[in-house]
Amino acid sequence: MGQLEGRVAVVTGGSRGIGRGIALELAKRGASIVVNYHSNAAAAEEVVQEITSNGGQAIAVQADVSNMHDAERLIKAALDTYEKIDILVNNAGTTRDNLIMMMKEEDFDLVINTNLKSTWNCAKQAIRPMVRKRYGRIINITSVSGIFGNPGQTNYSASKAGIIGMTRSLAREVGARNITVNAVAPGFIETDLTSDLPQDLRNWVDEMLVIKRWGSIEDVANAVAFLASDEASYITGQTLTVDGGLVMS
Ligand code: NAP
Repeated sequence: MGQLEGRVAVVTGGSRGIGRGIALELAKRGASIVVNYHSNAAAAEEVVQEITSNGGQAIAVQADVSNMHDAERLIKAALDTYEKIDILVNNAGTTRDNLIMMMKEEDFDLVINTNLKSTWNCAKQAIRPMVRKRYGRIINITSVSGIFGNPGQTNYSASKAGIIGMTRSLAREVGARNITVNAVAPGFIETDLTSDLPQDLRNWVDEMLVIKRWGSIEDVANAVAFLASDEASYITGQTLTVDGGLVMS
């Protein structure tokens, strides 16, 4: 019997990259999964297929989580299908990197809305059903960029630092209801998001890493699965960096 048997998890941006890995790992440990995606329905369906062909339960739900009505629809779909939400992983995210002198205002707004507002939207919608059940695990995917800063990422760093503050405040609001709220801050993981990083940044990362390899999607998924488990019931308001020692705070 898996560690998360009987649990229901919503994973935003669960169709690709780190979110896909989290969805598969939570399913492997027994949770039923709501795989949220924005535009790539085929990728989300492939994740659902992989889970169900291994004997698990999953559905795919399209929703732009930066939009409150979509977030509400996503959480409603989860409740309609599985009747509860135990675990919410706020993973959906994007980048629009540029130096501030060149960055367009719409790229600032898009990244803040996709990464930070979405986290608030989904938490706001999921918190009532969690309070009703007196159980919840919210795990927000932030980034070392939100701790350390990164030139060219004033929008992204601000969104990810905001997630850390939100995580701490929400943890204080809902801890008495047996709901934990934590963040996971990946370092550099090979996904579509990092596929076109400039070579000089890649070289700097290689030099700074204490563990001399880039992180895998599984490294992040395992940390999320731990925070979602009963073993992590006394951990809340924390940011767990999964970054090969890149940032030590
Ligand atoms: P990715 O490969 O680009 O995947 C992004 C996922 O988010 C996709 O499933 C995408 O869905 C979904 N998404 C984007 N905008 C959305 C929206 N408005 N509503 C719903 N879903 C949306 O990215 P990744 O590298 O796996 O990153 C996942 C998370 O980890 C992000 O929060 C990112 O900031 C964080 N992170 C990544 C790294 C890294 O090194 N990769 C490091 C630190 C933190 P569609 O496919 O349908 O568009």
